[in-house]
Amino acid sequence: MSSVFERIIAGALPAEKVFENERILAIQDIHPDAPVHVLILPKKHFKDLNDVGPEDQALMGEIVLVAQQLAEKFGVEEGYRLVSNCGPMAGQTVFHLHFHLLGGRSLGALG
Ligand code: 5GP
Repeated sequence: MSSVFERIIAGALPAEKVFENERILAIQDIHPDAPVHVLILPKKHFKDLNDVGPEDQALMGEIVLVAQQLAEKFGVEEGYRLVSNCGPMAGQTVFHLHFHLLGGRSLGALG
């Protein structure tokens, strides 16, 4: 069965979209951990970061540029976090690659 994000990308489930082009969709997280909590999803299916190959370098770079734009759009360009949880041990719960853009509060150190 396809993941919730694949269904959102396919238009089969609703989501609050904040950015979309042919390759990338960004949506509001349904359970935000910060005042700004956006999920940036490649439309191409990858299970996680380990699924990304050399042919995907441009797409991964574009995701970083979209994150920059969204940080500015939501007014957190001075301090934000872009993170992808890879695997259950890292806290991944949805197995379609996504990047959390978090900001709007003090995020502290990782670890
Ligand atoms: P992960 O734990 O895999 O790194 O992140 C999954 C994220 O997806 C969580 O922050 C969770 O709140 C969010 N999420 C799960 N289901 C949905 C959904 O149906 N819609 C949206 N917009 N976010 C979701």
